[in-house]
Amino acid sequence: MLPICREKQRQLSRQFQQKSLAHAIIIQGIEGSGKGVLAQWLIALLICQQPLASQDSSESETINHACGQCKACLLRKSNNYPDHLLLDSDNKTLGVDDIRRGNAFLEKTAHLGKVKTIYIPQAQRMTVAAANALLKTLEEPSPNSYIVLTTEDIESLLPTIISRCAVYIIRPKIGAALLAQLSSSNASLTSMDNDVRSPDNAMITETLNEHAFVNLSHLAELTDEDVFQQCKVFTQHVINYIYNGQNEGELLSQLVDNKHGLRWLEKITANLMRQHYLANQEQQAALNAQRKIPAAVLNQLYQAIISSNKLIKSYSQTNRQLAVEQLLMTIDCIVRP
Ligand SMILES: [Zn+2]
Repeated sequence: MLPICREKQRQLSRQFQQKSLAHAIIIQGIEGSGKGVLAQWLIALLICQQPLASQDSSESETINHACGQCKACLLRKSNNYPDHLLLDSDNKTLGVDDIRRGNAFLEKTAHLGKVKTIYIPQAQRMTVAAANALLKTLEEPSPNSYIVLTTEDIESLLPTIISRCAVYIIRPKIGAALLAQLSSSNASLTSMDNDVRSPDNAMITETLNEHAFVNLSHLAELTDEDVFQQCKVFTQHVINYIYNGQNEGELLSQLVDNKHGLRWLEKITANLMRQHYLANQEQQAALNAQRKIPAAVLNQLYQAIISSNKLIKSYSQTNRQLAVEQLLMTIDCIVRP
């Protein structure tokens, strides 16, 4: 269990002991936050016939765990536990049929007697029809049933769903370890080969770095070296495209294929704007001379990117390609009217 999940684990464990757990639970956390591990721990605990209690070393509180050895645990571990259902899909969306499968599952009597559990990872993939089907179940929960949903983006769930669930949001803490990681990430970005960035863009990249990694939603690039390297290259391509109209092809393929691409684009543009406001007068004059893109245009760019990102996220791969092409054209029109 990642340290950032422990607070929620303690809370859930307490509610489990007090038998006050909600029948529908949403766990929200950014990618890399360990929300899936937390969800699986909870489900294993609910399923287990002889849960264990152990002392939490730092907080002197009792944390419950599945025993791992009872009949239910053994069946769960071999994916043969009959009273648990994983509602996942290979598709980009979770459709109404998937949710109906869940509803039918809850209507049947439990095989092993205790509880029935459903796990819906990446719940933001539910279509509106699927969400409405789930809503019916949430309004009239079957006795002894638990539905656990995880999501990166709770705002994309229907408010009516959220209001019927207990919500647990995993928030990373700013600890000494994270700060150390931030400074080492910045150091390695600053020491990036000079030939990777064109001299024209050196200052922009430099200023961007100071602010680029202070946002905690960048956890994936902070904890995974490969993702960090991809982010570095991506940032350079975005800057080359915005300021010089270069790297269009690279940017297109990264935005279509890299799952972080759209978020990075949003953050990079936000940072470009922030940089404009954070710079002192002298720096601003230098930046303006170099970029020739006024803050108002950057703002317009940011708005265009946010609104198209929302759309693109809901598209299939084929449509995504077209939508990203459209987005790059829009960017081009805004910065080079
Ligand atoms: Zn057990």
